[in-house]
Amino acid sequence: MTNPILYDQTSESLQSVLRELGQPVFRLKQLEEGLYQHHYLNFEEFTTLPKSLVEALAERFTLFPLEVKQEIISRDKRTEKFLFKLTDGHYIETVLMHYDGRDTVCISTQVGCPMGCVFCATGQMGYVRNLTAGEILSQIIFCMRRLEEDGKSLTNAVYMGMGEPFLNYDEVMNSIARLTDQKGLNFGARRITISTVGILPRIRQFTEAKSQVNLAISLHAPNDALRSTLVPANEFYPLDALIDASKEYTDHTHRRVLIEYALIDGVNDTLALADELADLLHGMLCLVNLIALNPSQDGGLEGSPREKVEAFRDRLMKRGIQTTIRLKRGIEINAGCGQLATTQKGK
Ligand code: SF4
Repeated sequence: MTNPILYDQTSESLQSVLRELGQPVFRLKQLEEGLYQHHYLNFEEFTTLPKSLVEALAERFTLFPLEVKQEIISRDKRTEKFLFKLTDGHYIETVLMHYDGRDTVCISTQVGCPMGCVFCATGQMGYVRNLTAGEILSQIIFCMRRLEEDGKSLTNAVYMGMGEPFLNYDEVMNSIARLTDQKGLNFGARRITISTVGILPRIRQFTEAKSQVNLAISLHAPNDALRSTLVPANEFYPLDALIDASKEYTDHTHRRVLIEYALIDGVNDTLALADELADLLHGMLCLVNLIALNPSQDGGLEGSPREKVEAFRDRLMKRGIQTTIRLKRGIEINAGCGQLATTQKGK
C-alpha cells in the first residue's frame, strides 16, 4: 500500500495534517509555495520547513508519484515524450511540445482508455484505471520544472493524452481547479483545452459549469456510419446529438468549440467528406483542427499525405469553415497517444 499523494491534497486537508502535527498556521503557505510555486519534486527541496516536519510529511505522503522510465526527444528537438511509471506500476505518457512560440504539455487522464478508437494505441490497450488529480497535476508540474531549467515557462496545457478526460470528470476538474487557482499553479484557464470524443452528459455538465477552459471534440468523421467504424463511442453518442450538445455549449458560453479531425489516408480524407463536414458544422461557432494521423504500431492506418490535408483544409475554408492544420510531430518517437506505454505492457 503506497502513501497518499501530496499533490492530491486540498488546502483544507493539508491544514488539518499540519494542525495534527502541531505546526503553526503559516506552515501551510510555505508548504503550498513549495508545491505550486517552486514545483518541488522531492522532499529534500523543502528547505524552508523544519527537518522534523519534512520527515513527518515524507512518512505520510508520496510527494511526486511519477518515475521517469523513458525520455525521448525528437530529432528536431521540438517534441519531448516522457514515459512515467506510477506508484502502482502502471505506465502513462506525457508529451511536451515546443512550436509556434508555445510550450504545450499534453496530459494523460487515464491509464489506458475504454473508448477503443481504432486509430489509437491507447484505445487498443483497454482501460486500467482513472488517474487522480494529483497524478494529472504531477505531469504538468514535471514539465514546468523541465521548462524552468531552460528559463522558459509553460504556455498551454491540453488534456489530450491517454484516456478520455470526460470519463474521469471529477478528477480532471479537480486538477483544473488546482491548476487555475491563484494559490495553486495560477495558470490561465483559457490556456487549457479538454478534448473529448463526445461523452454527452459530461459535455452538458461542462457547459453548465461555464468554464473558461477550451472544449475540443474529437470528431474524425462527418457521418455516423463512418464515425462508428473509427470511434466506437459514436454508437452511444451519435453525431446529431453531439452537434446539438456542441451548439448548446457555444450558445451558453459564447466560446467556440475546437473540432479535432485526424486525417487517415483513404478513410476520411476525401473532398466529398470535407463537404459533408462543412454541412454538419454550418453555422456553428467552431475551429477545425486537421492533423494527419500518427500511425499506431498495429493499426495499419496511415496519415493522409500533405497534399490531401491541404486540399481538405482548402475545401472547408471555401465553405466558410475556419480551419487550421496541426503539424504531425515527433513521429519517429512514437508521439501519438499511447504509443510508448503499449510497449511496456507485461514488463
Ligand atoms: S483517441 Fe482518446 S478517446 Fe479514443 S481510444 Fe485514444 S485515448 Fe481513448
